[in-house]
Amino acid sequence: MNNQSISKEILYWYDNNKRILPWRKHLTKKQKQYFTLVSEIMLQQTQVKTVIPYFNNFIKKIPNLKKLAKINDRKLLKCWEGLGYYSRARNLKKTAKKIIKDFNGNLPESIEELKSLPGIGDYTSTAIMAIAFNHPFIPLDGNVERILKRIFYLKSEKEISKENLRKKKSFFGKSDRSSDYAQAIMEIGALICKPKNPLCYECPVSKNCTAYKKKDFDIKSKNKFNKIKYFEADIYKSKNKYLLIKNNKFNFLKNLLIFPMREINQKKFKSSLNKRINIKMSNMDMKITINKKNKKTYLNNSFLIDKVDIKNHILPSFTKKIFKSIVNY
Ligand code: SF4
Repeated sequence: MNNQSISKEILYWYDNNKRILPWRKHLTKKQKQYFTLVSEIMLQQTQVKTVIPYFNNFIKKIPNLKKLAKINDRKLLKCWEGLGYYSRARNLKKTAKKIIKDFNGNLPESIEELKSLPGIGDYTSTAIMAIAFNHPFIPLDGNVERILKRIFYLKSEKEISKENLRKKKSFFGKSDRSSDYAQAIMEIGALICKPKNPLCYECPVSKNCTAYKKKDFDIKSKNKFNKIKYFEADIYKSKNKYLLIKNNKFNFLKNLLIFPMREINQKKFKSSLNKRINIKMSNMDMKITINKKNKKTYLNNSFLIDKVDIKNHILPSFTKKIFKSIVNY
């Protein structure tokens, strides 16, 4: 198949199979820009099905860029609560302010200007250029990488480097429906060329796919093995209230409420007889021993929070998970 028939086949498949997503509705130009910005930032570290209800709620509460620029931080974080990576929400507000101040309220239409906005890097700028502005870009997300690795049967470290994958994108050619085309390719990765058991019999590019011919779908990726880290968390309770602190110590969950904790070594973790819990973060597996404390040690930035009142506080799911596991404390 040549480039032109590849794009035709892909778009034909997309038109008949795409998911109905809230940011794919028929929208005005301005809405399209805002919806794309919000959805792409939410999708940076999170799967589509998780993002959908958060996106709908966010748009309902903060329907446009002006409102976003003015929203108070508490309301903003409440809309983001549970989605994780809270710096994305803060950056989104900073971005809205900058767009209003420096770009007359319009999302800029160039890669360089988009990348000057907080929280927008290579991937998100190309996604916005393609999806919101219909420019011929194909964002290289995990889905697109996987398709390319399989089509070209890329296995070695050099072959799977970003640089090589960027070159290989030329396989897809162009289409005058750039917005749909970029989404179509990512959608094939999400729905058909899945990490396990790809549905090749439905795939519009199966004729060009070496992995399909060889029946070897194994994907090589740069090492992303989660590190295991060990922590000790202090649980101090007084009349049904628990002590939490504002996290200024760890890079993750910055400025959010967590139980006081510290990193410890594996030996100390293993020798502890306390209750243990495991929490999977995107970049590490956390193994935590729970220390019941009888004395309140003075801590800066600490708050006593009633368990029944949790919903009124902005708490990361991380802290909620610990709350759940200490139900009888
Ligand atoms: S034929 Fe199969 S392995 Fe190849 S791109 Fe399509 S879904 Fe992926």
